[in-house]
Amino acid sequence: MTTHKGIVLVPSDFNGVDWIQKLNQAGLDTLGLHSGGGPAHNVYDNLGFTATDGFRHSLVAAHLDWEYELHASSMLIDHTLATTKPELFPKAFRRLQVIPDGNWCISNPETQQMIRENAKELATRLPSSTNRYFFWGADKQNNDWCHCKKCQSLTSADQALMTANIIAEALQEIKPGAQVAFLAYHSTFEPPETVSPSPHVFLEYAPFFRCFHHALTDASCAINRKHRRILEALLQTFSPERTHILEYWLDSSLYDRVNHPPAKPVFIPSVVEEDVRFYTSLGIRSITTFAVRQDGEYFATHGDKELFQYGEILNKYL
Ligand SMILES: [Zn+2]
Ligand SMILES: [Zn+2]
Repeated sequence: MTTHKGIVLVPSDFNGVDWIQKLNQAGLDTLGLHSGGGPAHNVYDNLGFTATDGFRHSLVAAHLDWEYELHASSMLIDHTLATTKPELFPKAFRRLQVIPDGNWCISNPETQQMIRENAKELATRLPSSTNRYFFWGADKQNNDWCHCKKCQSLTSADQALMTANIIAEALQEIKPGAQVAFLAYHSTFEPPETVSPSPHVFLEYAPFFRCFHHALTDASCAINRKHRRILEALLQTFSPERTHILEYWLDSSLYDRVNHPPAKPVFIPSVVEEDVRFYTSLGIRSITTFAVRQDGEYFATHGDKELFQYGEILNKYL
């Protein structure tokens, strides 16, 4: 069984630090390349040098795997069509008005066809070394999915999973065996109810609102009890062996996206170790964490002890 031990970064995190060397030194083997959160964007522009062949060659030379983890809503559908082709876009539940900055109406066959073609272009221009693809929807907590007559009985998770299924089948034409993530996060942080995953879709669990003062298994933490319950429910539908964890243990940007120096995350080694023990006890073999804003300024201010502790913990269990 392939294991993945990783870090997820945006291009500016490479300022003043040799992250390729750091990954090798920390015993990590997978680099996730992120184009950023927030409003929809052109992922190629945001990925910059990390989307180039030259950069990917340097990862091959360092024996690192890489994958692109992207909020790709505006790449999968051209959102400038929202006025001329409103039927492609989601309808909000309150007044059924078109949502111009969300995802799409997945029940519309024309939408499905656009997503198929655009996903193939994304995977062609942004190949991963693992054959896993992460083309997520809009980075929003609500008003993102559709409540039109055809979609009204589908939950947000159902609609996101339908999208992942469509992308996964389309990618088989150009990337045989390609695996596509269903992202459990924000409005899709729950098990799908009426849609089943294609054999080429896997679970990506991103517990953005978890608590870092307590382990996921700590029954005294009301916040994490909910996160554990949802993960265990998701694993009734998705195989743990192919599940991928996207954590925030080292994510400075979770605490502050603006000020300098970047903020130090709440990183309690015993909590992280218990979390990793728990994830792997479920059969999960692929674990990564955001470390956004851990750039040269971050390491000069806070050091890199936690990064190496993270690597040691993963290597103890994976
Ligand atoms: Zn719809
Ligand atoms: Zn707590």
